[in-house]
Amino acid sequence: MAVWHILGAGSLGSLWAARLARAGESVQLLLRNEARLADYQRAGGLTLIERDQPQHYPIPATTLEQAPPIQRLLLACKAYDAPAVAERLAPHLLPGAEVILLQNGLGSQDEVARALPQARCMLASSTEGAYRPAPWQVVFAGQGHTWLGDGQASTAPAWLASLDNAAIPHTWTADILSRLWRKLALNCAINPLSVLHDCRNGGLLDYPDALATLCDELAQLLRASGQAAAAEGLLAEVMRVIQATAANYSSMHQDVSRGQRTEISYLLGYACAQAHAQALDLPHLQALQQRLLDHLTARGLPRH
Ligand code: NAP
Repeated sequence: MAVWHILGAGSLGSLWAARLARAGESVQLLLRNEARLADYQRAGGLTLIERDQPQHYPIPATTLEQAPPIQRLLLACKAYDAPAVAERLAPHLLPGAEVILLQNGLGSQDEVARALPQARCMLASSTEGAYRPAPWQVVFAGQGHTWLGDGQASTAPAWLASLDNAAIPHTWTADILSRLWRKLALNCAINPLSVLHDCRNGGLLDYPDALATLCDELAQLLRASGQAAAAEGLLAEVMRVIQATAANYSSMHQDVSRGQRTEISYLLGYACAQAHAQALDLPHLQALQQRLLDHLTARGLPRH
């Protein structure tokens, strides 16, 4: 049985690790450095909190440098860390290794694949929700689904059965890029505005014209990028998501309010860069990016 190496014991990485370990899969966490490893060892494992019930999982961990050659890896860091992590990972992968990329947005996956030519990289798009209330603890905050694929019409890998055993809801799809683009467009419509207006998602119902204009430009971008299906009914879905998540703060809003780096370069930044590359004039999307960058700069947060 191949070991599930999980790099990044953050929110999603821990959520996957705990469920796979609970199902009897062999799991090993790859932590950032010796200091993080020592801290983890003091905690003695990960704690997954589901429906207020904590359960402890003493999952083995090591650093990348000390890890045995890797056949299967779940890359569970943020998009902005993934390319540099992939460079470090390359010498530790066996030929034909399988790497699953959990990063939100677009752009990091191509950078990772370029750094790992010997691996089969697979992309994921997840609507599951998790957060860390304390070190080495993760709260399973929102049931969801994970779509997986490699961007080609290739057969599903055998390890999908492990996800069934671990009760990780998933679907293998040939259209993973369409999923990622659609999610990126939803994110571009909702998250930056929620930061700029400093509101919960429901607060965006006060700005229907801005949402409609943004969705129109995002749909143009999707169609120009060969993703016409992802452009269908975009505004209607944005409104549905806003209503369904009215009481929540968007992930970007949470990052900014905690003074943490955002994934802007892989979301709105990627959208604007693609528009520029295709000589598409999307003035509202570009103005939104500029306002968001100014907002981040004013708070001393990275612009990328
Ligand atoms: P997170 O909680 O910040 O976790 C990221 C983890 O990566 C951290 O534990 C960090 O380690 C680790 N890391 C970074 N560089 C590393 C390195 N060189 N070696 C080892 N570990 C390293 O992030 P997340 O919320 O799980 O998000 C991961 C991705 O999933 C993001 O792209 C996010 O947008 C996406 N996503 C998240 C959710 C969610 O609900 N959380 C839902 C859907 C999609 P340290 O702990 O040492 O900093």
